[in-house]
Amino acid sequence: MLLRSPVETVPWVRCEQCRTLTYAKRFVRELRVCPECGRHSRLTAAERIAQLLDEESARPVAVSRAVRDPLRFVDDRPYRERHQEAVARTGMECGVLVVRGRIEGHPVVLAVMDFRFMGGSLGAAEGEAVTTAAETALADRVPLVVVTASGGARMQEGAVSLMQMAKTSNAYAALDRAGLLTVTVITDPTYGGVAASFATLGDVVLAERGARMGFAGRRVIEQTIREELPEGFQTAEHLLARGLVDDVQPRVELRPALRRLLAATGGVRAGWDGGRTDPVERDVTRLAERPAWDVVQTARDVGRPTTTDHLGHLLDGFCELRGDRSGADCRAVVAGIGLLDGLPVMGIGHQKGHTTRDLVAHQFGMPSPAGFRKAARAMRLAEKLGIPVVTLVDTPGAYPGVEAEENGQAVAIAENLRLMGGLRTPIVAVVTGEGGSGGALALAVADVVLMSANAVYSVISPEGCASILWRDAAAAPRAAQSLAIDARSLLAQGVVDGVVPEPPGGSQQDPVAASELLHDAVTAALAGLLGRDADDLVRQRVRRFRGFGRADGEVTAS
Ligand SMILES: [Zn+2]
Repeated sequence: MLLRSPVETVPWVRCEQCRTLTYAKRFVRELRVCPECGRHSRLTAAERIAQLLDEESARPVAVSRAVRDPLRFVDDRPYRERHQEAVARTGMECGVLVVRGRIEGHPVVLAVMDFRFMGGSLGAAEGEAVTTAAETALADRVPLVVVTASGGARMQEGAVSLMQMAKTSNAYAALDRAGLLTVTVITDPTYGGVAASFATLGDVVLAERGARMGFAGRRVIEQTIREELPEGFQTAEHLLARGLVDDVQPRVELRPALRRLLAATGGVRAGWDGGRTDPVERDVTRLAERPAWDVVQTARDVGRPTTTDHLGHLLDGFCELRGDRSGADCRAVVAGIGLLDGLPVMGIGHQKGHTTRDLVAHQFGMPSPAGFRKAARAMRLAEKLGIPVVTLVDTPGAYPGVEAEENGQAVAIAENLRLMGGLRTPIVAVVTGEGGSGGALALAVADVVLMSANAVYSVISPEGCASILWRDAAAAPRAAQSLAIDARSLLAQGVVDGVVPEPPGGSQQDPVAASELLHDAVTAALAGLLGRDADDLVRQRVRRFRGFGRADGEVTAS
């Protein structure tokens, strides 16, 4: 496909934002991003395809003809005329191009919207094109990538255009059922019916820097509520902070981001055994008894590897997923996909930090409801893609706060317990530090539950228990002992299945060695679960938890 633009016919291009002149050839080389201020100019669909796909790999996909002018619509001019003009100006049949192609060797179906074609509006032909793209991805069993740029549904086609939202969404649902990855690249602007259908239904949503996305446009909102909106409203950065997109990248980084994502989700599945020696200790008698309060101190040491430290060591090409898609991105939970010795894995965990600044940024590892909902979103995606889940638990507990309560902290935790219990993909959980109550369990309903040698796991913090039952927080060491919160005690109770050894003196003494031991433990646990029938997996998991507390002593399912 040719890279065509009037820009190349003039020697200089003036930036609409900073007024800087750039040599036209350089402007094209910079993918039409101003080298001075970074403003991203609009790309045509053909230019976008040329930028994202491997050279010469694009093969057009035929799209069935759609109705042209169902209402014989006329405003101050007939719609038919406007449409013909758009066709003549863009050389496109409709506002969407659909191609098969490759991104660094990974096959995809790619649909790209072109804003020049009647503002990228979604009419029957555009809806047909996006639906055809989804159906082609389904038939080829490859991921679907859609690049959006749209003002919304096309008014001139009336209700038929509105129906395209449902039609495209149904096509996405079919890809969900088939376990095929869908990715959206949001470009400026993406609004209305496109934002409220396929654009935001992608499993992973990337936004190009400078993109704005929303349902109602800024002006409409301001006129309706008669209030000035905050700066940055509906911008990509704002959407990221609000949990509505996974990542924001400058144009030049979009292709590498797609490549990483396709690589992380497309690793080996069959025949993987990890090939590691299992270091996990399952015999209680081989574990030394230690004062519980000493273990609590070690578990809380800020030098211990955090979830991102561990995941960075375990998973190659980690692609972080952000946001709960409901208005927030809680930084106390980290989730993402990467390759564990070639196996795609969804890694999820509480995130603390090593410095005060880090700890504050991650809310001391205490999730808000959005954190649990982000984890849930990641787990559902893992189930859809058929990849196992590894969770790392390290939290003092769920965040106690007014907003957390009002947003349904209890509900978010409860829903995770139910979701994990029935998730149709293997789950391995490791309590790596503090396993604080419901906030810990919300990531720990798993087929195999392990615990690091110096971790703790408890129904309440020792301090909390001491102040309630002893009416004296200073009784925390006694409470810790009574609550039996150390790995040895929990292994004896069958609450955990095994203990992951730590380097001498604890993980904080040698974080890399600690991550390596965790790597071996997780690999061995997964090797035992992969390939198991999903019904069987869920039945065993439910049985594992069903046994807890029974007087007949049946605590674990094999
Ligand atoms: Zn500029």
